Amino acid sequence: MDLSMYQKEVLQNYKSNSQIARILTENWFSREMYCPCCLNEGVDDFPNNQKGSDFFCEKCKNEFQLKASKNEFKRKVVDGEYNTMMNIISRDSSPNFFLMNYENANWTIKSLFLIPKFFISVSMIEKRNPLSKNAKRAGWVGCNFLLDRLPEEGKIQIVKDEKIIERNKINKVWKKMFFMNSKKPEFRGWASDVLKCVEELDNKFDLREIYKYDRYLKELHPMNNNIHAKIRQQLQVLRDNKVLSFCGNGRYEFLL
Ligand SMILES: [Zn+2]
Repeated sequence: MDLSMYQKEVLQNYKSNSQIARILTENWFSREMYCPCCLNEGVDDFPNNQKGSDFFCEKCKNEFQLKASKNEFKRKVVDGEYNTMMNIISRDSSPNFFLMNYENANWTIKSLFLIPKFFISVSMIEKRNPLSKNAKRAGWVGCNFLLDRLPEEGKIQIVKDEKIIERNKINKVWKKMFFMNSKKPEFRGWASDVLKCVEELDNKFDLREIYKYDRYLKELHPMNNNIHAKIRQQLQVLRDNKVLSFCGNGRYEFLL
């Protein structure tokens, strides 16, 4: 993988910076990116940008959407229309998202990470305020991705600080967490949210410590009235999938 996106002819033929950025980032992705899900050598462009996905893997049929920015991704990442995104989640049809950060002096990739589709849940979507009545699309409601709601496994690094992470390592995380794909969207959101809390604790922790996140989890799941039981259920799911192990007496160990 070469981290340079530079293509002389694109810079010569286009004037608008946003157009140049779009072409160079997409060209780079088609040229250099492999499929992190099955390690197929390449990904293909979708003709005419159908279904909100930009690329797909011919072998495993995973779909990808690329978000590229010259500004570093912080806590919030702007996405499209709020209701559309909520429908995508409830229909279980989200693509996998790639977030790419580049610099446009030499046109190189600084970082790139993958949010697997099974980590896209209602918990990490924030509804934005409607556009004002003076705006061209008055009343339109967008949404943000809240990256700080995602556990580390939901943000798989492919390029980190201009260093390329080994493919097998990336694929291992994908495979390890793939069990979430078979769960219903609501259930999957819980697994991701509890995992996020687990990661904030020491590697070995007990129930009492994870119960301290009950208020945070209640905020994310206001309809649930038995948060502690739900936490225990999710710890069990994480254990069944070898993300955690039980050490007895309400103690757990994080294995990733
Ligand atoms: Zn694939």
